[in-house]
Parts: sequence; structure tokens; C-alpha cells
Amino acid sequence: MKRLAPHWQILASLVLATLTAVAFRGLFGGEAPEGSFQARALEISEFVGDLFMQALKMIIVPLIVTSVISGIAGLHGVEGFGRLGLKTFGFYAASTILAVLTGLFMVNLIEPGVKDGAPNEVIREAFDQRSAAASDADKAKVEEANKKEGKDFFGVFKAMLPENVFKAASDNGQMLGVIVFSILFAVAITRLPADEMRTLREFFQAGNDVMITVTRWVMAVAPIGVYALIFPVVYNTGLQLFLELGSYFGTVLGALAIHMFVTLPLVLAFVAKVSPLAHFRAMREALLLAFSTASSSGTLPVTMRCIQDNAGVSKRTASFTLPLGATVNMDGTALYECVAVVFVAQVMGIEITFAQQFLVVTAALLTSVGVAGVPSASLVAILLILKNSGVPNAEVAVVALLSVDRLLDMSRTAVNVFGDSCAAVTIARSEGEEVLARG
Ligand code: ASP
Repeated sequence: MKRLAPHWQILASLVLATLTAVAFRGLFGGEAPEGSFQARALEISEFVGDLFMQALKMIIVPLIVTSVISGIAGLHGVEGFGRLGLKTFGFYAASTILAVLTGLFMVNLIEPGVKDGAPNEVIREAFDQRSAAASDADKAKVEEANKKEGKDFFGVFKAMLPENVFKAASDNGQMLGVIVFSILFAVAITRLPADEMRTLREFFQAGNDVMITVTRWVMAVAPIGVYALIFPVVYNTGLQLFLELGSYFGTVLGALAIHMFVTLPLVLAFVAKVSPLAHFRAMREALLLAFSTASSSGTLPVTMRCIQDNAGVSKRTASFTLPLGATVNMDGTALYECVAVVFVAQVMGIEITFAQQFLVVTAALLTSVGVAGVPSASLVAILLILKNSGVPNAEVAVVALLSVDRLLDMSRTAVNVFGDSCAAVTIARSEGEEVLARG
């Protein structure tokens, strides 16, 4: 029997997990008292989901290091390297600006935090309730975020040059330092005498091939991992939530959809001159994985594979644009930050003037660069912006948003990954590469 293609397998487990969780909710009413059957099922599911996420994360550092080094130190590696860098950052800045403006437009148009011209009291109460009922883990996260205040704006530039690259590699949020170090290392390899250069090139190329094989092994169990990740999410998320915050969800998802299905495809069609449909097809496994895991870093190994194997982007372009993109380019996150901040201000009855909105946009752009590619990472940035904008009770709002974050997180992560992949394809085309021929 022919095996189902990987993206169909992932999609099938997404659907199956949703259906079984809904059935479980029907049976047990969404409760999970300690020691009960459903509590055990959730525990096992979360355990397996964690294992899968850890396996994905385990691949990241060695994969990034070997692919960046072998991609850049490879044949013609440093030729036109500055140009590649400029293009990459130019694309990332432009696409994030477009994303943020879309979010800003939608949140001002729909005004999800306003009812009959006044702050929406029902949502405000829901904030208080959700924040009071929030889990200790969520509260601890926000407290932790509170301490980080101020660091995120400029910390990202410091993170580019870590004083200890091994420490940076062992810290999830510090991938930028590892990438910059790998680039320096690769450029230095090209300055070595020919035989030393060849040895190192072959070494890192072989290392990269090994990591690609390991990625394949981990992805072989993706259907189980995805099931285990999604089941508890759906079980713990009630319909009530969508009734309370429906227009907010609608605003975020609508704005993300515009960016992913209108803006970026237009860029693909008219700037990169490739078929957006073929690109979606090439990236579908990575997009589904991003959606299931809510982690663009965790998805990176698969994003790299899809962009090279399915879209036909060269190793050099892929290994320069994608690891950088996964850490600094987050279209979905920047868009979300913007909508969330203005929404909370609306609910709290704080007037946000045009000038302040401009500041929110700038802050969303800057902080999205520093946000790590892991679940719910942007809530830290949102707290920071809210506090800087003088919105009272920012913690209450952020704890409440955190408790309803998962679906939005999954969606914005897919947009983050899609944005990076569009950059890779557009830049590859501008470098004269024949991409998507095999899409
Ligand atoms: N989960 C997102 C990502 O991994 C980051 C965020 O917006 O929280 O890309």
C-alpha cells in the first residue's frame, strides 16, 4: 500500500486529535479532576507532545551550525555575500512592516475591544476572571516577563555577539549569536589554504547530511507528536472562549489571513515571479508543523528541508535566509503584537492617538526581532509595549491573553514560517536560481 504523504499524515492527526478531544469534552464536560481517566489521558498526551518538541529542538543547534557553515563556506560561498545579506534584511524589514500595518488597519477597523463606542465591559470582566483563574505556570511566566523589562529592545543587538558561543547555543533564545558565529566561522574557512579548507568543508557538509537524516527520523513520528500536542489544546479550550473574545480572535485571524493569503502571495507572484500555489504546495509540511507546534525554531529543520527539496532553493541561500528568518523575522508575531496592544488599550479605555500608534508599530517591529521562536514568546513583548504605553493593569490583560493564546500562537507561527520561506524563494530568484521548478 502506498504511504500517505507526510503533510497528509500531519493533517490527519490534527483532525483526529481535534475530533477525539471534542468527543472527550462531550463525555467529560471539559473537566479533568485529579486521578480521573481524562486527566491521565491528558498527562500522557502532554508527555508525548513534550518528547516530540524536545526531539525537534534537539536538532536545531547542530543543524543550524552545520548548514550555515557548509552553505556559506561551500563553493562560491562568500561571493556576493554582502548583497545577499542586504537583500535578506531588506525583505524581512519590508514584509514585517506590511504585516504590522495590516494588523493596525484591522484592529482600528473592527475595534474588537469597543462596544457601542465605549470600552467593552464584558471583555474587561472576562479579563479579570481569566486572570484570576489562570494557572500558576501562566502567572509565573508573566512575572518572569515583568523582570525582563527594557532588555528586549536593544538586547537583540548584544545577543548577536555572545561572549560565550556555547552558552548561547545552550540557551533557547540566543540562536542569533550562534548564527552570527557560524557565519564568521564559515567566512574564515574560505580564507584557509586549499587543503585545510576542503577538509573543513567536507566535515561540515557531512555533519549537515547527518542532521538531515536525524530530522527525517524525528519527522517519521510527527503524526504521533502532533496528535499529542493538539489533543490537550482542544480539550482545554472551550467554546465559551470564542463567544467572549470572538471579535478579537476574528481580527487577529483575519489580519493573519490577509498577510498569508493575499500580501505574501502577491509578493511571490509579482516580485519573485513564481506561482504562489506551487510555493504553498512545496511548504505544506513545514506550515502544518509550525501550526501544530507553535514554534518556528522547532519547525526550522523541516522548513529547511522543504525549501531545498521541494522549492529547489540552493543550500547557500536557504542556509543564510532561513535560520536568520526563524530568529529575527516574525511577520505573524509583529502583526499579533500590534493587534493585541491596541485591543487591550481599547478594552482598558485608553485612548491611543495616531502618534502613539506609530510608537506601537515601531515597538512591534523591534520586539518581534527579539522574540524567540517558541510558544507564547511574544506575550513578553506585548507586556513590555503595554507598560511602556502606560496601559494600567497590563499584567492582568497579559495573563488573560496567555490563557487563550494557543490557537492564535499556532496561526501566527505558521505565518512566521511562511514569511521566512517567501523571503528565501524571492531572494533565490533574485540570485538567478531556478526555484519551484519541482514544486
Ligand atoms: N510562537 C511564535 C513562533 O515560534 C512566537 C510567538 O509569537 O509567540 O514563531
